Amino acid sequence: MKITRYVAVVFFGVAVLAHAANELIALKAARMFDGKSNTLVQNGVLVVEGDKIVDAGSNIPIPAGAQVIDLGDSTLCPGFMDAHTHLTLDFSGDYNQRRLNELDLNVSEQAIIATAHARATIESGFTTVRDLGSRFIGSHEFVDVALRNSINKGVIVGPRMLVATKGIGATGGHFDPTNGFRDFLFGLEPDYTDGIANGPDDIRKAVRFEVKNGADVIKAAVSGGVLSLTDEVDTPQLTSAEMVALVDESHRLRKKVAVHCHGDQPAREAIEAGVDSIEHGSFMKLETLTMMKKKGTFLTPTLMATEWIMGKIDNYPAALQAKAKAAAAARTEMFRNAVKIGVKISFGTDAAVYPHGQNAKEFRLMVDLGMAPIDALKSATSTDAELLGIRQKVGTLEKEKLADVIAMPGDPTADITATERVSFVMKEGKIIRQGPPSLQKVENTPFPEQAAPAD
Ligand SMILES: [Zn+2]
Repeated sequence: MKITRYVAVVFFGVAVLAHAANELIALKAARMFDGKSNTLVQNGVLVVEGDKIVDAGSNIPIPAGAQVIDLGDSTLCPGFMDAHTHLTLDFSGDYNQRRLNELDLNVSEQAIIATAHARATIESGFTTVRDLGSRFIGSHEFVDVALRNSINKGVIVGPRMLVATKGIGATGGHFDPTNGFRDFLFGLEPDYTDGIANGPDDIRKAVRFEVKNGADVIKAAVSGGVLSLTDEVDTPQLTSAEMVALVDESHRLRKKVAVHCHGDQPAREAIEAGVDSIEHGSFMKLETLTMMKKKGTFLTPTLMATEWIMGKIDNYPAALQAKAKAAAAARTEMFRNAVKIGVKISFGTDAAVYPHGQNAKEFRLMVDLGMAPIDALKSATSTDAELLGIRQKVGTLEKEKLADVIAMPGDPTADITATERVSFVMKEGKIIRQGPPSLQKVENTPFPEQAAPAD
């Protein structure tokens, strides 16, 4: 009989079991969702060898010598993906306190805090994230690149990350880190090395600079945003010529483009320019959504961001409250229209606007606004894998795919909130979590009085 070998690796006092290569593990559960089908199968069995899935299906035979993990009355599912996170940041507390913390906290300390965000995210079942922007005022550190690389090397535990480095945006726009501060408080105006670019050539330079420094994906703000002090939420912030340059340069370098956009006009211009996804999209009209459907542009609705801000509206300055209310009022009809006409909806939450690790609450918001539970599950698995360009490797439970597998109690198509109670997490064949999470919430958040609510 084969000898089972385990290597116990201790991170933050928590043992992670990493199994030796070529060892067989069979996962069993009452149900299985493969990431792409319209129904769940009963008596799901998934066989993992090393970091890959070697067999998956209903009642398939378990090979001799395999270690069997019976997860009982639960549902096996591909590891969830979140196409819009900011693991290196935390905007969830009092807005003005956060601005002060940004000035006070050493960037290295913020990077260490980010490792706890990464762990909270993977333990809640999200084995892949597209991390859309990481910046520290007055610093040129690429903390998201460092976090991704440290996870890939096994130094820390976290989800697979595709990172955007600094979001690209216009002077005075949503991504200008000096937005709202006294002029020249930080010396020179931010430039392309901070992601701030003006004119098509400068935009190309910013894209090249970010790719040189490790960006997997390019993020830009083409309209105003909610959490910035001096812009309107829906005004255009890049010209059409700048958007064309942004998309052309990124696609030449084989990087996809995700744009932050609330306004309808900038969304139309961005879709026309060929961006891969519109993030938020709050004010998009039906005609704009129809354009997206025709072009195959993804919508990443980030319902959790608005939900969190509206639930804590007193934490924000009056000007931001007005912007948040306008975006929240518009997004319901936009999302319902997108579902109705069949726009490709990717699962993305804007984690950092709310405390990390609560990503799965997005599922219930999607279903409440008219999305079928099975489609919401697809959005966080096969649809995100398609948007991220990694569907050859992950996103479904099929032979030859990497073994990113989670389990949740009961049947998520009957009760979508099962997604919030993930009890088992495997990434690339390694068991990250089996049983209670190691961290109920991120304890070392810089906003202790705003720690994650218990619900
Ligand atoms: Zn964001």
